[in-house]
Amino acid sequence: MIDLIYVEKAIKAHPRTRAILERFANKTVIECDRYTEIFNPAGQNFRLQKQRPALILARKQEGWVLPAPPEYRIAAGRNFYFSHMLNCLYDCRYCFLQGMYRSANYVLFVNYEDFVTAIEAVADSAATPAWFCSGYDCDSLALEPVTRFAEYFVPAFAELDNAFLELRTKSTQIRDILRYAPLSNVVTAFSFTPDRVARELEHRTPSVSKRLDAIAKLQQAGWAVGLRFDPLIYTAQFRAQYQQLFQQIFTRLNPQTLHSVSLGVFRLPKGYFRTLVKLYPEERLFAAPLEERDGMISYRADLEAEMRDYCEQELLKYLPRESFFPCYPESGGKAHAG
Ligand code: SF4
Repeated sequence: MIDLIYVEKAIKAHPRTRAILERFANKTVIECDRYTEIFNPAGQNFRLQKQRPALILARKQEGWVLPAPPEYRIAAGRNFYFSHMLNCLYDCRYCFLQGMYRSANYVLFVNYEDFVTAIEAVADSAATPAWFCSGYDCDSLALEPVTRFAEYFVPAFAELDNAFLELRTKSTQIRDILRYAPLSNVVTAFSFTPDRVARELEHRTPSVSKRLDAIAKLQQAGWAVGLRFDPLIYTAQFRAQYQQLFQQIFTRLNPQTLHSVSLGVFRLPKGYFRTLVKLYPEERLFAAPLEERDGMISYRADLEAEMRDYCEQELLKYLPRESFFPCYPESGGKAHAG
C-alpha cells in the first residue's frame, strides 16, 4: 500500500521512525529537510495522488495543541485538538482535507512525546477539565497498525489529570485500545452516515455494521463510546435513511451507555468547495441544493433546518437529552474530518 516514504533527517533516528520503516519491506526511502518541501508545493493533483499516497515522517516543531473550532466542541469548558497526522487512509467525498491540502500524501509527526508534554501543560493551566480531540486532520485510528497512535496516547492519558481524549474515527482498528483497562477520560467517537450514503461517499471506510461491531466490542470491554452524525447528508430520501440508520444503531447499542451523541451539518469554506468540485466535477453531492452563507457553502438554510430538526427529533426518541450535543457551527467552522 505504501511504497514511498519520505523521512525528515531530524527524526530519522527516532525509534518510532525506525519501527515504521521496518514494517515496509519493499519501500523506497527518501530523506528530506522539511516535510513541507514535499507536501506544500502547488501543482500537485490530490485526486491522482490519493490513488497511491506516500508517507512522510516528520517532526512537529510547534503548535502541538490548538483551540477546537466550534463544531468540534464536544463538552462544556475547554476544547482543543491536536494532529499527529495530516490526511487520511479513507476517501470521503465531503472531506474538507481535499480542499485544505495540496497533497494527498500522509504526514505523520512521530514526536508523540512533544504532543503529550503540550497536552499536559494545557490541561494543567486551568482548573476546568480540558478535552483534546485527535481526529481533526485525519481519522484517529485508520492507520493504527502503522502509527500506533492509540497504543501510545491511551496510556499517556491515564497519567494525565484534568485531560480528556476524544478519538474520532470511522475505523475498526480498536485492538490497541482493547489492550488496556478502560479509562474514564478516553472516548472513542464513531462517525456515521446512512448505509447507502456511506457506500456512495465514504470510499474505503468500513461498513456501518462493521463500525457497530467495533463499538459493541469497546462497550463490552467498558470503554466510553460516542456517536457523531457529522456531516448530515441530504438526499431526497434523507428521512427514511436516517430513521433506518438510527434504528440500525439503537437495536444494536444501548443508548443509555453512550457517552455522547452529536449532529453536524455539511459545511465547507467556499475556496475548499471550489477545489473539491474541480477535483470531482461528476460528483452528485456537489449538485445538491447548496448555497453560500458568510463564505461557507452549505445546504439551503430551510433544508439544513429540516434535516437538523428531523434528526434531532428522531435521536431523542432513543437518547436521554443529556447525552445529546447538537454541535452546529453557527459561527462557521470548517467541515468535517475523522
Ligand atoms: S472525513 Fe474523516 S474519515 Fe473521511 S477521509 Fe476525511 S478524515 Fe478520513
